[in-house]
Amino acid sequence: MSLQVRSLASGSSGNAFLVRTAQSTLLVDAGLSARTLERRLREHGVDPCELTAIIVSHEHHDHAQGAGPLARRCSVPIVCTAGTARALSTTTQGIDVRLMHSEGISVGDADVWSFPVPHDAVEPAGVLLRHDGWTIGFALDCGHVQLHMIEALQEADLVIVEANHDRERLLATAYPWSTKHRILGDRGHLSNLQAAQLLEGIFQDGRRRDVWLAHLSEKANDQPRGVIQFIQNYLDMLALAPLSLSVAQRDRPSATWHSDQALQQSDLFHIC
Ligand SMILES: [Zn+2]
Ligand SMILES: [Zn+2]
Repeated sequence: MSLQVRSLASGSSGNAFLVRTAQSTLLVDAGLSARTLERRLREHGVDPCELTAIIVSHEHHDHAQGAGPLARRCSVPIVCTAGTARALSTTTQGIDVRLMHSEGISVGDADVWSFPVPHDAVEPAGVLLRHDGWTIGFALDCGHVQLHMIEALQEADLVIVEANHDRERLLATAYPWSTKHRILGDRGHLSNLQAAQLLEGIFQDGRRRDVWLAHLSEKANDQPRGVIQFIQNYLDMLALAPLSLSVAQRDRPSATWHSDQALQQSDLFHIC
């Protein structure tokens, strides 16, 4: 049974990933307006009211703004940590909110695990989504790399990690110092270098996997091609190679991952 992932948007103006199995259709983050989410879902052949659940990594607007309205209109459950549920409680009254944690819960025919990430939200989470032997790992919005994040993400066949900014470009922006301080802080966002270091840690197990770089800053980062090149160069120096490296683009649907293709790729790799 196959597993498909599609980036619908990723960045400070909104994050949303569509995950489909034979029996389940999930949104991971709903950081666009409900109207935009519904339109994007329909463009991908998904009736919004047939969603199995909306998984929310944390309560920030760019990850959660559409979750409450969409969940209410379509009677779809929201899955998040207890802290995120508390933070979202004013917008989720009457909605079925299910708690995710480190021991995993079943959502449709997938299993969802969360792990803590350092970010300035109430209880922000990285997410592992497993189905039929495949795992997708999400680590969006984290201020620095922690060992348990590496260990959790090593299970993933597709790793989706934040590569938010280039430190020098961020410092050169016209953002107020308080904003720069927040982004650079331990509970802010991962720079390209930190993203590369996270991937370095993950790839120490010698296993090849696909990588998406997400949440690229519009003002404080290079163009997607430049960010890919930076990460590629870093991993090349260490003789580490992802199966593929893509960017989840900011304001439009972009990267797609399919377990059937991943299987073909890994078969090819073994033949080589
Ligand atoms: Zn964010
Ligand atoms: Zn955030």
